[in-house]
Amino acid sequence: MATVPGKENKIESKHPKFRYRFRLDQEKCIGCLVCVESCPNDVLDSKDGQPFAAHPDRCEGCEVCVAVCDQEAIEIEEG
Ligand code: SF4
Ligand code: SF4
Repeated sequence: MATVPGKENKIESKHPKFRYRFRLDQEKCIGCLVCVESCPNDVLDSKDGQPFAAHPDRCEGCEVCVAVCDQEAIEIEEG
C-alpha cells in the first residue's frame, strides 16, 4: 500500500464520525423507497425493503429524504 508523505502515522478510523446521521423509524416506514430515489447524493440504499445510509459520508444534511417521506419515518441528526 502506498504511503502519503507526512501521513505515514495516520491511522484510519474504522468507525468514522459522520457529520449527519440517517435515522429511520422502522415502525413508521412502509418501504416505498421514495427517499432512496430522491436523495441527490445517492446516500441511501435499501435492505430488506427499508432504507439505510449506505454512503453516510456523502450526506449533506439537505433533508430531501425527510421532506419526501409521507410517513415521517426519517430524521437527520447532526453530529
Ligand atoms: S420515504 Fe419514508 S416510508 Fe418510504 S421508504 Fe423512505 S422512510 Fe420508508
Ligand atoms: S439529508 Fe439529503 S443527502 Fe442526506 S440522506 Fe437525506 S436526502 Fe440524502
